[in-house]
Amino acid sequence: MSIETAVHQADPAEPLGLGGFAAAVALPPRAERGERAEAAADRLRTAAVEAVAVTWVDNAGVTRVKAVPLSGLVHAAEWGIGTAPCFDVFLADDTITTSPIIGGPTGDLRLYPDLDRIVPLAAQPGWAWAPGSRYTQAGTPHPGCQRLFARRMEAAAAARGLSLKAGIEVEWVVALDGPPEEAPKYPTHGPAYGMHRITDLSDYLREVVRALREQGLSVLQIHPEYSPGQFEVSVAPEGPVGAADTSVLVRHTIRAVSARHGLRVSFAPVVEPDGVGNGGHLHLSLWRDGRNLGHGGPGPHGLAAEAEGFLAGVLDALPELLVLGCSSPAGYLRLVPSHWAGAYQCWGLENREAALRLVTGSTGERAAAANAEVKCFDASANPYLAIGAVIAAGLAGLDQRRALPAEFTVDPATAEPGAVPRLPQGPAEAIAAYTRSAVLREALGEPLYQAVLAVRRAEAEKYAAVGAEELIAATRWRF
Ligand code: GLU
Ligand code: MG
Repeated sequence: MSIETAVHQADPAEPLGLGGFAAAVALPPRAERGERAEAAADRLRTAAVEAVAVTWVDNAGVTRVKAVPLSGLVHAAEWGIGTAPCFDVFLADDTITTSPIIGGPTGDLRLYPDLDRIVPLAAQPGWAWAPGSRYTQAGTPHPGCQRLFARRMEAAAAARGLSLKAGIEVEWVVALDGPPEEAPKYPTHGPAYGMHRITDLSDYLREVVRALREQGLSVLQIHPEYSPGQFEVSVAPEGPVGAADTSVLVRHTIRAVSARHGLRVSFAPVVEPDGVGNGGHLHLSLWRDGRNLGHGGPGPHGLAAEAEGFLAGVLDALPELLVLGCSSPAGYLRLVPSHWAGAYQCWGLENREAALRLVTGSTGERAAAANAEVKCFDASANPYLAIGAVIAAGLAGLDQRRALPAEFTVDPATAEPGAVPRLPQGPAEAIAAYTRSAVLREALGEPLYQAVLAVRRAEAEKYAAVGAEELIAATRWRF
């Protein structure tokens, strides 16, 4: 059982917003948390762990952390670790804005490690990691907690008898270490997707695979990508909150292995001007009673009606979902046609230029493999916000029994102008769509909705008059 109780006996009619799904985000009793932390500390001690890093991801997409010595783990699980609410209005460059409900120097929150996910870090000897959820001093869920938002959306699906499997593909660029103001120099000059790159960085990549495995993750694939120094790793799908946790763990594992090899990494949307960027593609499948609703149904390519409604809701909401799925203004430099980033608001079977790509899998494995991929998201996203918001939009589509529009089977860039809408080409357009979204506003709840909006507006304003090269340079080493 998670540190938040895993009991989802909610009513589908419960509001998506903060009033709903309270049971899914309630803290279990303190005594129980303490006992479980003692057992976890015993296990970690035998693994020679000295300190535990407890992370959350802010609204700008930066992973922030508080760490405690192992001897402090029980106290952290019983009483939480103090964190300031103003982290909710941090920008990626560490400047701080404010929002109508959250912001300013006062207040205190309690960060609780999720003891189910605590794991020794293979590439940081003596360290363990746990994702954290934030509560008030009174023990009630912090309405700005992005992880609890994702947990509530998972519960909203469960209240409808549905579960999801999700996975975020991680793309990164690896470079030789050096001062942040210098343009990257690469440790391999091998061609895109070339075996040359795996040969050049053989020990490094093996260490990445090994560290991920030792941390309990199941690597599906690792390969060189298109841009200089670019690679991708994918891991097995899991529940929505678990998948968001995993994407944090995967990225920081890659970072740690890189540091041990004298390398640095960038998960920023764009590393080289005009290059292909780093995506954060979100794969998901919807399940009922152990059956994948992406297979064997009457809809397009075997979608069950509920899966079609869900995907129709996601497709329709993509402009506003970009606010959650592409945190950085630099994301819009990546989100351009013919870069496999999914710059058009359309869907298609195995169409890598569609923002929503349907994947049925090979004949024989479809019942397990069928899923959909949101391609337009990048790795500056807070994964909890991205996944939670997609679930909210999908459930709205499902509840309204929506149907998908016509499929797009070709590169939308080759279509007649206007035949298929481009997704927002800058943060202002996406923000405008977000401010019109009643579904996201209700699901996020006013404090989180407003905090995200404040951060996006502040970053959009900050970089509005800045050229592409400067924006790339400002964000390259922040993610
Ligand atoms: N790097 C591309 C992106 O920015 C995706 C490449 C791929 O399809 O894996 O999303
Ligand atoms: Mg890729």
